[in-house]
Amino acid sequence: MNLAARKPEACPALVLNADFRPLSYFPLSLWSWQDALKAVFLDRVDVVAQYDTKVHSPTFEMRLPSVVSLKTYVSHARTPAFTRFNVFLRDRFTCQYCRSTERDQLTFDHVVPRSKGGRTTWQNIVAACSACNIRKGGRMPEVARMIPARKPRRPTMFELNERGRAFPPHYLHDSWQDFLYWDIELEP
Ligand SMILES: [Zn+2]
Repeated sequence: MNLAARKPEACPALVLNADFRPLSYFPLSLWSWQDALKAVFLDRVDVVAQYDTKVHSPTFEMRLPSVVSLKTYVSHARTPAFTRFNVFLRDRFTCQYCRSTERDQLTFDHVVPRSKGGRTTWQNIVAACSACNIRKGGRMPEVARMIPARKPRRPTMFELNERGRAFPPHYLHDSWQDFLYWDIELEP
């Protein structure tokens, strides 16, 4: 057994769309090695790069894919889920009142307070640091003189994916880099 090779469980595959961009940045589109192999055998993906790790069966041996690309393009036109994470991502993890980027201080603020009929929607929730959240309290933005930096609205999937590229995950297999940072200038 090759000790340098990863265990199959540590070999997720980065999934690219047919245009060779990640299917999504947040969460980063990853499949387990089982799902990746299944898609290979169903001829739904091309293998773009591989791990050294091999899997065996009585009839075949194969290196596990580290990057696969879908054969059919998946459109990003669907609307994003209204989740805490996506609100943070839309607002770039930045307080919309003082522009602080201290992540552990980040909370959510109802622009129109709930006590004044404000609802929990894309159009009324912004990222706010806890200090600003407390300072604004139950007041209307005009009264508190605290107007969000950007008028909150529902983002498109494309916008969220663009934002997500600024927040790469901690762990990246070497062969994924090319697909994650394709807009950075390549060295000569
Ligand atoms: Zn703030």
